[in-house]
Amino acid sequence: MTDNNEDHFEVTFWGTRGTLPVSGAPFARTGGNTNCIEVTCGNHTIIIDAGTGIRELGSKIVSTSPNQKIHLLLTHAHYDHVEGIPFFAPFFVENAKVDISCGKLEGSKDTSQLISSLMERPFFPVGPEVFSANIDYNTLEENSAYNISNAIRITTASLNHPGGSTGYRIDFAGKSFACITDTEHVADQHDENILKLIDNVDAFSYDCSLLDKEMCDFKGYGHSTFEEGMRLAKLADAGALLASHHMPFRNDDDLDQIEKEMKSENPNNAVAREGDCIKL
Ligand SMILES: [Zn+2]
Ligand SMILES: [Zn+2]
Repeated sequence: MTDNNEDHFEVTFWGTRGTLPVSGAPFARTGGNTNCIEVTCGNHTIIIDAGTGIRELGSKIVSTSPNQKIHLLLTHAHYDHVEGIPFFAPFFVENAKVDISCGKLEGSKDTSQLISSLMERPFFPVGPEVFSANIDYNTLEENSAYNISNAIRITTASLNHPGGSTGYRIDFAGKSFACITDTEHVADQHDENILKLIDNVDAFSYDCSLLDKEMCDFKGYGHSTFEEGMRLAKLADAGALLASHHMPFRNDDDLDQIEKEMKSENPNNAVAREGDCIKL
């Protein structure tokens, strides 16, 4: 952590729900929006996933720095990761610049086609032609690395998820953060792609949808557990595991229980809740 603004590296969770948004008192402390993480590296804004949490983030960006370039990294195109796209305010700002990147997914040609399909009738009333921002679409190679500016390195890893999904690692100013969602682990095996991506990472958010004891009921849905997250964190010597992608049936009290277990192994581990901000 540093006070120098140029090295400022901060991760803010705008939505940590997986599968479906939720609302009501039992979920109030964790928040009900689906996946969206804002990563600030110096003057650069990187957003991972465009679940419903991106709507409020978009409003903040437009009211504070509407002309700033935004890098939107999509892990994949399941609804809970993209349903906020048509409601992201910077897309409606003339001359705003947004780069949308995603790995190649089953059934789609490229990232541009992915967004068009998402906003196609009968699923949505208008297409991406309503956006006035300058949008660049990138389709990323599997298990690759590239730079955003000289100082920010993005590394990708293919995950084990129906239709495909991409994990991201961001290295900046000597620190690192990774986002691993969605992915299914195989019992008693550790995903080498993930271990490589999170090797010595300062913090990573992980698909903690399930409990080990629930895996047998959700085989093939493409999700993992907080217990596997802890095993991976230990093997990779990661600084902190941040549990995310909470299932709609998991309420605040359930998540407190999970967090207690996670912290007993490493006090830096935590359940990611909407509004949480981690300075690296
Ligand atoms: Zn998901
Ligand atoms: Zn998914």
